[in-house]
Amino acid sequence: MDIVTFMDQYWRVAGNPGFNASVDRIRDGLQKAGLQPRVEEFALRGRGWDYQVGTVAFADTDEVLLSRERDRVSLCINSFSTPDGGVDAPLIDVGAGRAADFEGKDVKGAVVLGAASVGQLWQQAVKARGAAGVISTSIAPYIRPDDPSRFTSQDQHDVFQWGSVPYDQEARAFGFKASLRAASKMRERLKSGPVRVKVNVRSSFYDGPNRMVVAEIPGSITPDERIVMVAHIQEPGANDDGSGCGTLYALAIALQQAIASKALPPPGRTLTFIWGDENRGSRAWLTAHAEQAKRVQYMFSLDMTGEDVAKTGGAFLIEKQADPSAVWPRPSDPHSEWGGSDVKASELKGSLLNDVHLAICRRRARDTGWIVKTNPYEGGSDHTEFKRDGIPSLLNWHFTDRYYHTNLDRPDKTSAAEMVNVGVAVATSGWFLASADERDALASVDLIAGAASARLALEQTQSATPDILDAWRKWYGEALDSVRRLPATGPSAAVDAAVARARARPGG
Ligand SMILES: [Zn+2]
Repeated sequence: MDIVTFMDQYWRVAGNPGFNASVDRIRDGLQKAGLQPRVEEFALRGRGWDYQVGTVAFADTDEVLLSRERDRVSLCINSFSTPDGGVDAPLIDVGAGRAADFEGKDVKGAVVLGAASVGQLWQQAVKARGAAGVISTSIAPYIRPDDPSRFTSQDQHDVFQWGSVPYDQEARAFGFKASLRAASKMRERLKSGPVRVKVNVRSSFYDGPNRMVVAEIPGSITPDERIVMVAHIQEPGANDDGSGCGTLYALAIALQQAIASKALPPPGRTLTFIWGDENRGSRAWLTAHAEQAKRVQYMFSLDMTGEDVAKTGGAFLIEKQADPSAVWPRPSDPHSEWGGSDVKASELKGSLLNDVHLAICRRRARDTGWIVKTNPYEGGSDHTEFKRDGIPSLLNWHFTDRYYHTNLDRPDKTSAAEMVNVGVAVATSGWFLASADERDALASVDLIAGAASARLALEQTQSATPDILDAWRKWYGEALDSVRRLPATGPSAAVDAAVARARARPGG
C-alpha cells in the first residue's frame, strides 16, 4: 500500500516527473531490502507530459466545472498550455459529436462539448474546424450506463475516464474528459442561451529517456534460465497499476528476505522483476537482453492486482496463456468485458503454465476464501510482448473494475488483502517454476493429466466439435511435454517416463 499511495500522487506518463519519482521510489526500496536493482534507460517514444493547471469555468460566474484540484485527470494527455490569462470562448454542444452534428454550427475558436470519444471530437472539432479545444463525456458502458435512472451508485454522476489527444504542435489545443454532473451543468446553462467558458491550462512536455527498474534473484542451478514478472508504472490509477507495482515490489522483497534468512532456498533459475512503461518496457528488455530473453521459461504480468472486489465489482482473473478457449469461444470460459482478440489455432503451443498457476491460486483460495476465476487470452498488457516472442505468459488482473481508467481509481478502491493473495500466489508460482525438482515435476504430470481429463470431459458436456477436442488434445500433449523441462536440475528419466505414460492414456 505504501507503493500504491506513493504512486497515487502522480499521473505517471513515461518521461514525466511522477513516472521517474515512481521508478526511483521502487529502486530505492528494493535496494534497502537487499536486492540490487538497476535502472535501465531507453529511448522515449513520443514525449512525456504532465500538467499543473487544467481548469474550465463559466466565464460570467467563474463557477469551476473541471479542475486538476477536484478532478485530477480531466485534462487529456498532450494538451498544450493556453496563452497567459487563459482562453475565453463560446461553449458549443455537438451532442453525439458525429460529423453531421457539426452542420450549421460555427465551432472555430470554440470549446466543443460532445459524447464522442475525445479522439473523434478532436478530429472533427480541432483538426477539421479549428476549435480551441474539446470536452468529451465518452465512457465505457461497463463503467456506467448512459441512462441515469439505471445508475446503481451515486458516484456514477461524478465518474469519468481519462484520455489523451494527439500530440499536435500546430493545433496547440486541449482536450478534457467530463463527468455527467459537469456536462449536465453546461447543458443546463446552454438551454437558456449562449454560454462562454474560461479555460486555463498549464502543461509541460518532457523528452525522456524512458526508464525501467530491473531486479533479479539469481538462480543457483541454471541462472541463464529465467522466470520474469512485470508490472507497469505509467497511468494514473491506484489499482491500474499502482497495485501491480506494489504487489510485485512486496513479493520480490519477501522472496529476497526469505532467501537471505534461509527460510527458503534460493531459486534454481533466476527470478527477474521488471517495473516499466507498459509493453514498451517489456519490449525494451526483450530487445536489450536478447540472449537472456531466448531462455525465459515463463512470464507473469501483474496489472490491476489490488482491486477491492466489493467496491470495484470484478473478481480476480488469471488471463490464461492463449489456449484453445482463446480461439474457439467456450461457454465455460467467458471473456471479460475487455473482450477477446484474434488468436489463430496455429499460434497455440501448450504449456503447464495455466494449470500450475491456477492450482497454486486455488490452493491459496482454499485457505483464505479468495475468489479466483480465469478468462481466455485477450491481451493488452506486458504479457502480450512476451507472447509475441513465444514465451508462455499470463496476466494476473481484475475485471470488470467499474473504476477502470477513471478519476476514481484511488487507493480507497485498493485492498491490501487482495494484493497479498495475488502476491503470495505469483511468488509461489514463480519460485516453483524456478526451483521444481523431480518430485515436483512428477506431481505436475499428475496435475496436467488431471486437468486434461477434466477439460475433455467438460467439452463433452458443451458439445465441442472434433476440431476443438483435437485442439485440446494437442494443447495438453504439449503441456505434458513441457513438464519434462520443468526440473531445474535438468531432464529426468522418471519424469520422461511419467509424461510418456500420461500421453499414452486413452483420450490423452
Ligand atoms: Zn494497466
